[in-house]
Amino acid sequence: MPGALFCVFCGHEFPVSFYALRMNIFEKIVNREIPATIVYEDDDTLAFMDIGPIIKGHTLVIPKTCYDPVTETPDEVLTKLMLVSKRIAAAQIEGLGADGVNIIQNNGRAAGQLVPHIHFHVIPRFDGDGHHWNWDAKQYDSPDEMEQLAVKIREGLAE
Ligand code: AMP
Repeated sequence: MPGALFCVFCGHEFPVSFYALRMNIFEKIVNREIPATIVYEDDDTLAFMDIGPIIKGHTLVIPKTCYDPVTETPDEVLTKLMLVSKRIAAAQIEGLGADGVNIIQNNGRAAGQLVPHIHFHVIPRFDGDGHHWNWDAKQYDSPDEMEQLAVKIREGLAE
């Protein structure tokens, strides 16, 4: 369906399809509407270079169909994404000489997610690469506080 965007400064009209507006940036990569440096593709999955690498070689693994967040993603899709992520990790070790790999998956703005299309970050790590996660480990006030939170998670598992 046709539509338009208007420049707020000069009023120029840019025709766009509402379909294109609805799509997230990863769907546009899947549809080859914007470029990406693809390293792996099969019927269901795409892996491509992240344009803002934490460490050079940082790769994203996505399903071609958009699901989000992880809790709404079918088990078989998650299985496939993890298996492809494992292959990318092995390729980073083999091909790039990585000494280690971080596999990360963010859900929701609070968790730092920017693109609402499930994806795994596969990040090659090298001894002395200088990157440090801000892994600011806290402490529980008491064993009881930890247990109370565990009770709530167990209750969630039972639902
Ligand atoms: P997240 O914060 O988990 O949603 O991660 C989104 C990731 O997508 C970021 O690491 C971005 O650098 C990356 N990204 C955004 N746009 C593109 C793009 N056009 N091509 C490749 N990576 C992208």
